[in-house]
Amino acid sequence: MQTQSKVTLDSTVIPFKNKLNSPFKKKGITVLQINLGKRCNLACTHCHVEAGPKRTEELSPEICEQLISLIHRFPEIKIVDLTGGAPEMNYGFKPLVEAARATGKQVIVRSNLTIYFEDGFSDLPEYFAKHQVRVVASLPCYLADNVDKMRGAGVFDSSVKALQWLNQLGYGKEPNLTLDLVFNPQLPTGEKFSLAPEQTSLERDYKMFLQEHFNIVFNNLFTITNLPVGRTKMHLERRKLYTSYLQFLESHFNPSTVEYLMCRDELSIDYLGNVYDCDFNQMMNLPAKNRNGETLTVSKLLEAGSLDLINEIQTAAYCYGCTAGCGSSCGGALLES
Ligand code: SF4
Ligand code: SF4
Repeated sequence: MQTQSKVTLDSTVIPFKNKLNSPFKKKGITVLQINLGKRCNLACTHCHVEAGPKRTEELSPEICEQLISLIHRFPEIKIVDLTGGAPEMNYGFKPLVEAARATGKQVIVRSNLTIYFEDGFSDLPEYFAKHQVRVVASLPCYLADNVDKMRGAGVFDSSVKALQWLNQLGYGKEPNLTLDLVFNPQLPTGEKFSLAPEQTSLERDYKMFLQEHFNIVFNNLFTITNLPVGRTKMHLERRKLYTSYLQFLESHFNPSTVEYLMCRDELSIDYLGNVYDCDFNQMMNLPAKNRNGETLTVSKLLEAGSLDLINEIQTAAYCYGCTAGCGSSCGGALLES
C-alpha cells in the first residue's frame, strides 16, 4: 500500500530521471569518497548523515584493509575524500590518509574544526600539515549566532580558534596547505525558500569579514545546497515543507549542471564497504548497481580489477538539490552564475 506522502510526492514532482535527455552514466572514476562512520562530536540540525556522539557505526579493520588495497591498485583514483561523521574520530582515518598520500593522491578531510579541542585529537592540525591534507571545513555562516544555532553553543568560537591554528601552520597561505570553507544555507522554517547565494560574492564577504575580525585567511568557499536528506528531510517533514521544498528545487532545475555533477566521476563507500554513486544516495540507502542490477562492494571491485562496473547512476527526487540554479556538490557550485 502506498503511503499518503508517497502519493503526494509522485503526483507533484516529476521523477528526476525524466528530466534527463540521455542515460545517466558515469565518466571515468577519479574520486573515492569514503564515509568512515557516523560518530561525531557534534549533532548539527542540518546533518544529512544524522551523525552524533552516540553513534557507534564505523569502519572495521577488514574494510579499511580493502580500501587501502583499492587505493594502491587504481592509479586513476586521484582524490581520496574522507568524510563522516567526524572522519577523524572513526577507525581507519590515519591509515587511509597515509596510504593515499604514499601513492601521490590528494587527500581531503571534511573537518568540523571543533574536533581538535576534544581529548585525544589535538595533534590533528599538525598531522594534516605534515601530510599536506586538504582541509574542507564547515562554517555555515561567518556570524556566531547562526553557526551556534545550526551546530551547537560555542561552535563558532571553537571554529575561529581552529582556523587561526591552521593559519599559523601555513594553511590558506602556502600552496600545498589548502583550507576551504563550506557554507550551507539556514534550514527553511516556512514556504519562503531560497538557493545558496552566489558563491564568488559570498566568498568575498567571508574573506573580508574573517580577515577583518579574526585575521583568518582561507582559499575557497564552497556553497552547498541543503538536500532534503537525513535531518534536513526530518526538519522539512516536521514543518510539512518537504514536498514544497522539492517542488522549489525542481522549478530551478538547470540542465547545464548535469555534466558536472559529482556523482559522474566518484564512488562513495560506506563503513561496511558498500558502493554508492554519492554520499546522499548512501544516506538514503540507494546503492550503486552493475549491469545485472547487482549491488557492489569494495571487495567486488577488487575481484573484478575495475572501478567501472556501474551501469547507470541511481537517482531520486533529492537530485534536484544538486541541479538547481548553479548546481551544488561537495566542491561547491558547479557553474559560475
Ligand atoms: S554536519 Fe558534520 S559536524 Fe555536524 S553532526 Fe553532521 S557530520 Fe558532524
Ligand atoms: S544526489 Fe546529487 S550527486 Fe547524488 S546521484 Fe543525485 S545528482 Fe548525483
